Amino acid sequence: MAWFTKTRKPIEASKTSRVPEGLWIKCAGCAQIIYNKDLFANLQVCVKCGHHFRMSAVERLRSLFDDDWEEHDTSMAATDPLAFCDTKPYKDRLRAGEKATGLKDAVITATGRLDGIETVIAAMEYGFIGGSMGVVVGEKITRAIERANKRRIPVVIVSCSGGARMMEGALSLMQMAKISAALARLDRARLPFISVLTDPTTGGVTASFAMLGDLNIAEPRALIGFAGPRVIEQTIRQKLPEGFQRSEFLLAHGMIDAVVDRRELKATIAWAFRFMGAAGPPVAASSGQPRESNVEEEEAPPGAPAERG
Ligand SMILES: [Zn+2]
Repeated sequence: MAWFTKTRKPIEASKTSRVPEGLWIKCAGCAQIIYNKDLFANLQVCVKCGHHFRMSAVERLRSLFDDDWEEHDTSMAATDPLAFCDTKPYKDRLRAGEKATGLKDAVITATGRLDGIETVIAAMEYGFIGGSMGVVVGEKITRAIERANKRRIPVVIVSCSGGARMMEGALSLMQMAKISAALARLDRARLPFISVLTDPTTGGVTASFAMLGDLNIAEPRALIGFAGPRVIEQTIRQKLPEGFQRSEFLLAHGMIDAVVDRRELKATIAWAFRFMGAAGPPVAASSGQPRESNVEEEEAPPGAPAERG
């Protein structure tokens, strides 16, 4: 019998932080504490280790467009056609998503200028039901592509999504085909589409438009895949290799074209568009419609093409 037994439990670490909310943030990459203002000034990339924090759709547009942009289909909202309910009603999830992000659904589509090149950008919002692709997301992205096709301007889609929205069942899966068809028409019109894959890009989004870019660019260390690693391991009964489903692994295995630091992303896209011949004079006038936005008046002269090492 032990002469001494420990009767008291060890002291538990306090779970509550005494640091005021939102002033400092702990980096998931290097575990260092970063001043939030520094992080935002650096496009939400850790100044110490280069870890890429998740970005909201609005911040994404701000990081890519030169100045103001014209947003499209802002009032489009999901209707819950299946009256779906899992642990809570889908309607409640929609309301919570709207409250958290201020958006009606998980994507913002907009037209503006990217380094002087008139571009349509669709940026997905992870904060809205995991950036999942339902009917609204599918329709907005399709319309954005069709708008670009009409104006003869290039498209960028920034994916940040858990995949198709299961609360809309087969309707969400149909969006994969619809967006892909719109992209095929864009391709036939010889207009470029660059897909930007950010952390995470999975499920039906990876299985459709995210991998259909003329150039598929990923952010560093982003999770990109179709099924999650746990599901694959259980199915094939094998241990997956280190770094599986991360950008760098996919690049090494030929699944994507480039891994680009977020701070270089805008310059890289502009460079690629110019290379693909998308930076010609704007042909918006060909549609016969005057532009509604004030982007053109405020437009800065197009910068020189980004130098590549
Ligand atoms: Zn860090």
